[in-house]
Amino acid sequence: MKKAVIYSRVSTDEQANEGKSIEVQIDLCRRWAKENQHSVVGIYPEPGKSATTLKGRVALQEAIAQCQLEKVDVFLVMDTDRLARNPSDHFLIKSSLEKSKTRIVAVNQPMIDDSVEGNFLETIMAGVNAFQSQITGRKVKKSLAKKCEIGDWPGWAPLGYINVNTGTEDKPNRIVEIDPERSKYITLLFKLFSTDKYSVDELRDLLYEKGLRSKYGKRVARSSLYGYLKNPFYIGLFRFNDTIFEGNQPLLTTKAIFDLCQKIIERNNHNACRRRKYKWLLTGIAYCHDCGSRFYCSHNHRKKMAYYHGAYPLGCKEYVPLAVLEDQVADEIKRIKFSDEFKQKIQEKAKELIRQTRDNRNDELQNLRNRVKGLEAKRNVLEDSLLDQTIDKETFKRKHEEINYEIQGLDNDMANIENNRGFDLDMVTQVLNLDDNLYETYQHAVFEAKRQYLSIFFDRIEVYDKKIQNVVYAPLFQKLLDAEKVTVSTNWLPREDSNL
Ligand SMILES: [Zn+2]
Repeated sequence: MKKAVIYSRVSTDEQANEGKSIEVQIDLCRRWAKENQHSVVGIYPEPGKSATTLKGRVALQEAIAQCQLEKVDVFLVMDTDRLARNPSDHFLIKSSLEKSKTRIVAVNQPMIDDSVEGNFLETIMAGVNAFQSQITGRKVKKSLAKKCEIGDWPGWAPLGYINVNTGTEDKPNRIVEIDPERSKYITLLFKLFSTDKYSVDELRDLLYEKGLRSKYGKRVARSSLYGYLKNPFYIGLFRFNDTIFEGNQPLLTTKAIFDLCQKIIERNNHNACRRRKYKWLLTGIAYCHDCGSRFYCSHNHRKKMAYYHGAYPLGCKEYVPLAVLEDQVADEIKRIKFSDEFKQKIQEKAKELIRQTRDNRNDELQNLRNRVKGLEAKRNVLEDSLLDQTIDKETFKRKHEEINYEIQGLDNDMANIENNRGFDLDMVTQVLNLDDNLYETYQHAVFEAKRQYLSIFFDRIEVYDKKIQNVVYAPLFQKLLDAEKVTVSTNWLPREDSNL
């Protein structure tokens, strides 16, 4: 009989529901093993608050070690996102398992198989998983909106306040209170700055003398001071999800003083130069064709231009304006053409993946809804017993709160699943838009998605004389080229600076 190990991990959204989620994942994997006649020789649940690095994931390391030691045939996970948070981790795990010829099977994603199309989809999913974990911060917002509406700031307290848990470890109730030691600095900062007699630098020194220290025991950074001065938290408001909420926190300055400070900052800003923030698309991909130096990014403030360039200290003199190189890279993408057969196969697999994902999510939602119903019934019984006077008020209050807390947790889980679903489908369909619109899709994609495209296609882009001289394709893409599933047209010569 063939052998399998099971690996499970909770995602950030599921921390509250940890035990349940792990159970479901293991059950699904067990079922696969049974249906496919594999004996389960190891089960590795990753503890919830495990490290984000591969090294810190002890259960994963142990699972891989067993596979290598005992030549296990299959490594079972529920979804690819249980395995890794980004493509490089994903393929690192995959290659460690390949040494023992262990195959990864994501039981909920049978379309990700060992065919070229399956591999392609695997790459895309690995990228989508990375993208997803990058936006987890944005995702949890929805479930936190409730907390905001009742005026509780859901994040870390800014300087001058402290986070206090008035509940228990299991049922936390986190509120923000005034920091008895450091709130005075904030009040003083606003008061002095509003007189327009002190510069921010002078205030840095002054607050230092009075005892305010940064995390490293130094003066607080200028930018931090500006951050405090602009933060409406200190007058009882906070911004979350682009909405301003009225918070429960006590004030550390008055609105009149705060408004004065804003006027002074605005006036100062008028005189200062504005820096544009650039995002560097090609770091880690672009290299100098001549000397092999990787490209770095710089910004020339006088010319207001951004450049990619080789390492000056190593003697590399190559540089290209950001827009020039990024346009050339987009042109490279224009040359890529997938075969109709390949596109069709990928579309079929992708549709299946999307359908399967939707079904799984619906099952999960239904499961959660049922549990909420159960809890609501329990709550009704409890309310009845209070009316019947079969329980006392204290017990009622305690149990009522317990149930409400549990329901709120499930509500959050449902909100997370809903948010997740929209994202999955959008991202996968967007990345899989492999028809003639690939170039268009790329050009309109958000930064993270662009990076994702580039990593699918290119390992290295070599530049000299401000032009792309050589392109090294990513291994998987090269495989597709070799199998003639995709072509790169060579007759794409007319670049903007060619002498035609
Ligand atoms: Zn060079």
